[in-house]
Amino acid sequence: MDDRQFRNAMGKFATGVNVITTEVDGDVHGMTANAFMSVSLDPKLVVISIGENASMLEKIKKSKKYAVNILSQDQKELSMIFAGQIKEDRDVSFERLADLPVIKGASTQISCEVVKEHVEGDHTLFIGRVVDLQNQECSDPLLFYKGKYRSIERTKVVL
Ligand code: FAD
Repeated sequence: MDDRQFRNAMGKFATGVNVITTEVDGDVHGMTANAFMSVSLDPKLVVISIGENASMLEKIKKSKKYAVNILSQDQKELSMIFAGQIKEDRDVSFERLADLPVIKGASTQISCEVVKEHVEGDHTLFIGRVVDLQNQECSDPLLFYKGKYRSIERTKVVL
């Protein structure tokens, strides 16, 4: 198969959208990511996958920690900012959770310390031990499906 076929197939898996945040020497860096999964309940572990060309890669290798900020449907612009889809510099407000910057208003903020790194092909998987999290009462999630941002249509819930 070629890359396009592979991308199209993977794009059929509907996901939420996160912004991964970390901090190195006081500089906050964020990156949009949908490669995220809960790994284990005991201990509480999650995983993210970062491409070899992303500047986030070196930053997490240095900081050894990251936060996952699950976006709500009214935060598409934030996803676009941190994916480089909006080029102009924008001021983004961060809060702190367990000594990490997190996105204000994200539906869930999860702070992690890296416990293992696995290089697999052109991505690195970072297993994170969850050190703290915060669930906010907010709107439905921002979704990503077939290469486009989507929102839940509440009338089409599958029973
Ligand atoms: P940069 O390109 O340097 O930063 C990304 C953008 O964030 C820049 O525009 C920068 O100005 C802005 N930014 C960074 N920090 C701040 C700050 N403190 N304040 C304001 N703006 C800031 N890539 C993966 O590797 N893994 C994935 O799982 C993944 N999933 C994705 C899912 C979606 C829905 C999309 C749209 C993209 C995804 N990407 C993923 C691609 C990834 O988001 C982009 O390639 C991204 O540009 C790579 O970021 P970077 O770390 O190289 O940083």
